[in-house]
Amino acid sequence: MRKTLLAAATLAFASACASVSTQQEVQLGAQEAAQVNQQLPMLNDPVIDSYVNDLGSRIAHTTSRADLDWHFAVVNTDVVNAFALPGGYVYVNRGVLARADNASELAGVLGHEIEHVVRRHSVKQIEQQQGAQAGVSIACALTNVCSNQAAAAAINIGGAAIFAKFSRQDEIQADEGGFQNVLKAGYNPTGMLTFFQKLLSEEQAAGGGTSAVSNWFSDHPGTQDRIADIQRMLSQTSQSQLQGTQTTDAGFAQMKQRLAQLPPAPPPQQGQ
Ligand SMILES: [Zn+2]
Repeated sequence: MRKTLLAAATLAFASACASVSTQQEVQLGAQEAAQVNQQLPMLNDPVIDSYVNDLGSRIAHTTSRADLDWHFAVVNTDVVNAFALPGGYVYVNRGVLARADNASELAGVLGHEIEHVVRRHSVKQIEQQQGAQAGVSIACALTNVCSNQAAAAAINIGGAAIFAKFSRQDEIQADEGGFQNVLKAGYNPTGMLTFFQKLLSEEQAAGGGTSAVSNWFSDHPGTQDRIADIQRMLSQTSQSQLQGTQTTDAGFAQMKQRLAQLPPAPPPQQGQ
């Protein structure tokens, strides 16, 4: 019964694909989130989740989509990545939390993902029906017909397979909007720059081999250009604007302390 209803919903959705309403977007995001939560190793730690939700919500509520029901969750893997589903579901990997040295660095990553949702980047891809993968993932999300293995292959931790193969232009937009989101939330956007630089040096230290940050670079192309763009935005931000911002907060220190007490993340599985 449930499957029939959902299959009908997929058909309705497919035929009305020219434009996705906010209600459809949220429904799709919720379906995908349910799958992600089932397929990925979620950290589910109350202290850490609560901090990431507080910080993420604070940033999301400065945007034009403050009215969405935003959700933030942490994936228990050292692989460095973050991704957003339609409708306001944002995921950040433990590897990002481990590498962030202050709240503004984490804020930069969250601000970027939030902006992908604000600008409906994945919804636009669905509307344009670019590529068979998007169609497959929608069917998977809405009908739940995918076998676990197939779904697990599609939903890799980077989310690269289905959620987002964003264009460089989308990435630049997410950086630029994310930068403003972070600033409006009262955090210093310099954290975006320092975090990117940190990832870049880790990637360079790996000398072209696979490292915990490799996924980040394949999912987020043009990191050098993006660093230059963030530097440009920083130089255009007045000192008085930056002066009132915070670089970190007490909750961040508590979150890091808690993270250090947890057992290590499970090793990445194949396809992640
Ligand atoms: Zn992005």
